[in-house]
Amino acid sequence: MGALMAGMLDTGLFLAWTEGAARAVRLHRDRLTGLDAAIGDADHGTNLDRGFTEVGKALTEWPPTSPAQVLVSAGTTLIRRVGGASGPLYGSLFRQLGKSLDTPVTLAGFAAAFESGVQAVERLGKAAQGDKTMIDALAPAARALTQAVQEGADEHKAFERAARAAEEGAKATIPLRARKGRASYLGERSIGHEDPGAASAALIMAALAEAAA
Ligand code: ADP
Ligand code: MG
Repeated sequence: MGALMAGMLDTGLFLAWTEGAARAVRLHRDRLTGLDAAIGDADHGTNLDRGFTEVGKALTEWPPTSPAQVLVSAGTTLIRRVGGASGPLYGSLFRQLGKSLDTPVTLAGFAAAFESGVQAVERLGKAAQGDKTMIDALAPAARALTQAVQEGADEHKAFERAARAAEEGAKATIPLRARKGRASYLGERSIGHEDPGAASAALIMAALAEAAA
């Protein structure tokens, strides 16, 4: 169905995204936990690995029939299964993204829904770009995606640009002082370390680009 319609994003793409995100988080689990050891409590990689494993189980047990169902299911599972701040935050991202999609899902519709998902994270976390959180990767990714859509990019190019913006945003957290989350308790000592949530957000956006490749 969707796969044959040019410019439409189908259920299979979003399943591939969640599966790719799970693989990436598994592969980088120890690096993410190491980043969290430096400025948090050393659980970010294990938190997300457990969460995305549960996402895969839920999607196998209750096969989704639409992109929205994939994303809302993923978000709900992350909220339920991830201990730590990142569970509700990523959960809100995926749930709001899913709830904001119109069917069929166009690239422009996805970009708008993604913006809305990032705003949900900002509201829940009471954080903005520059606070040294996952938002430092997610917000630039959302802007890059919207801009790519406006310039007529196809989904492959658009997701690549979003992934690159997320990666740059994550690296740009290194010199920042954390103003939200556990890392903020360290004050000045949070400077000089990449934010773990921004690093995982970059992995998740890279998984989207790979799913569309
Ligand atoms: P916890 O901090 O509860 O141990 P995790 O280690 O799983 O949870 O996740 C930490 C990440 O969550 C941080 O690196 C940061 O990116 C993100 N985070 C924490 N608090 C906030 C917040 N208020 N707003 C946005 N993101 C946040
Ligand atoms: Mg932690």
